[in-house]
Amino acid sequence: MNEYVLPDLPYDYGALEPHISGEIMQLHHDKHHRTYVTGANQALAGLEEARRKGDFARIAALERALAFNVSGHILHSLFWQNLSPEGGGRPNGALAGQIDTDFGSFDGFKNQMVRAAGTIMGSGWAALAWDPASARLIVVQIHDHQSETAQGSLPLMVLDAWEHAYYLQYRAEKTQFFEAVWNLWNWDDVSTRYMAARNVNLGLADVAQPRA
Ligand code: MN
Repeated sequence: MNEYVLPDLPYDYGALEPHISGEIMQLHHDKHHRTYVTGANQALAGLEEARRKGDFARIAALERALAFNVSGHILHSLFWQNLSPEGGGRPNGALAGQIDTDFGSFDGFKNQMVRAAGTIMGSGWAALAWDPASARLIVVQIHDHQSETAQGSLPLMVLDAWEHAYYLQYRAEKTQFFEAVWNLWNWDDVSTRYMAARNVNLGLADVAQPRA
C-alpha cells in the first residue's frame, strides 16, 4: 500500500527569481506542501482506525481532511512541474490550437486565468483543465484545494492563489504575481499533460454534442 511523499522540486529554490523568490519557494515547498502530505497520510490513518474500531464519529471531518490534503498535495506537485526557469512565452502545436478553439485566443485564455485567480474569495487556485466529457479545455476557479472543481476534468496547469504563494514578495499586489508567473510556465509540461489527458475516456455516452 502506498503513502504520500513530498516530491523534490525539478529546480533549485532560487531558480524562479526574480518572479518568485527563493524564500517563498522554500517555505511553500518544504513547509506548506509538506503539511498537506502529512495531513493526507494522517487522514488515511484516521479512516483506517475508524474502520478498525467501528467508530465513525469523526467521519465527516476525516473525509474533508482527506479531500483537502490529497488535493493540496496533487495541486502543489503539479504547480512545481508547470513552472520552469526556462519557461514563459506561449504554447505551440496542438495545445495552442486547442486554446484558440476553446477560449477564442491565447489572450482570452490568459485573461480568464488571471481574473479567476484574482477574484477567489478566500484561498484557492485557478486551473486550466481538460474536460473529457465535452472534449474542451476549461478554466476552473478552485476554492481551497478541492471545491468548485468540475468532476471528471483533469487539471493541466494550475496557479496557486493562496496568500502563502506570493505575500512575502508581492504583499497586497497579488495581480502582479498572477502576471509574473507567465514568465515561468513550462509549456512543454502543459502540452504533454494535454496530449495524455486527451486519451481519457469517462465512458459516459451522450453528455455532450456539437453545438447546433
Ligand atoms: Mn500553495
